Amino acid sequence: MTHSPTDNEILPYYKQNAVYPWQLPLWKQLFSDPVATSHFPHALLLSGVSGIGKTPLAFYLARALLCQTPQENLKTGLMEPCQSVDNDNVCRSCQLFSAATHPDLYHVTTAVDKKVIPVDDIRALIQWSVLNSQFGGKKVILIEPAEAMNLSASNSLLKTLEEPVSNTIIILLTNKKQALLPTIRSRCRTIDMALPDNQITMQWLSEQNIPKPKLMLSLASGAPLLALQLSQSEQLEVRYAIINQLLSVMTDSIDPLSVAEALFKQTKTKPAKASRKKSQTKTLLITPYDIIYWFDSLVSDLARLAQMCAIDIIINIDYYDSLQQLSNRLYLKRLLQLSDSINKAYYEIQGQININLLFEKLLIDWNNCQK
Ligand SMILES: [Zn+2]
Repeated sequence: MTHSPTDNEILPYYKQNAVYPWQLPLWKQLFSDPVATSHFPHALLLSGVSGIGKTPLAFYLARALLCQTPQENLKTGLMEPCQSVDNDNVCRSCQLFSAATHPDLYHVTTAVDKKVIPVDDIRALIQWSVLNSQFGGKKVILIEPAEAMNLSASNSLLKTLEEPVSNTIIILLTNKKQALLPTIRSRCRTIDMALPDNQITMQWLSEQNIPKPKLMLSLASGAPLLALQLSQSEQLEVRYAIINQLLSVMTDSIDPLSVAEALFKQTKTKPAKASRKKSQTKTLLITPYDIIYWFDSLVSDLARLAQMCAIDIIINIDYYDSLQQLSNRLYLKRLLQLSDSINKAYYEIQGQININLLFEKLLIDWNNCQK
């Protein structure tokens, strides 16, 4: 098995000891049915949006596939790895899995600050895949996010997918299935993980005791783990700061260029500087991505309201009344054009673009949406 520099984020997944409630039907299909388990595909592609628990599910599935004594969970009637059912008699495999040192698991992901899984990482994985299993059972490879593999890495993996090694299972995770080579997709059994049912996720979020679960789920576009993350971070304050500044152009006739400049300056706040100013007002750390993301949600909501869409597809439900009023004062066509520009901005901010100028242009277009 391999570790990447993202260990801090990944390590808790090794200790995952249950599937989320919305994943129970899928779990039954993947592992609990004896037929499914004995005919487990050599390559599985888990596809779905961020924040629905693909990674924890994949790690739990890897644990289950490697477990030496899977057992029936009497509460759910489903087969699960032994650790989750009987904590006193945990098999050696599950012990090593929890310690993130299982020799028959190989995890590939991107290095910190890198967006690509290079071909060398896949070559190393292929060399590992032909070795014998240390426990004499299955070996499991996890690749996430699969769309991070560059073309040569994808082509390299393709050969292994075409000539699978017996008892080795490859699990790929993606939230951009279309970005994968069609030949990779066609050689995997694809599981499309849909957004979970609202009722189940609302109940789960309430059990997590988070404030305003309905708003959080709406802001996370229905993805429960994203909603939980949002409630535990400064993201909510960041969002208020961004949306209020954007709305001030419309509601208080604030000069769009000065708002653009203010937003740009906020992205320049350094964490160290912020922590030194403890006695003063807390300085929020805002990234260009945050601004584009919440700008996108605001413009999308206004465009939907202008088109009389139902309230349940509005993201910023806590601003509903003011957004509805505002939508009557805006040109739909210009909102849609702005929405296109914002979508391009997601890519532009990753490159060498002058972000200050980009914000100025978007804010002027925003101001010009008014009738
Ligand atoms: Zn076990």
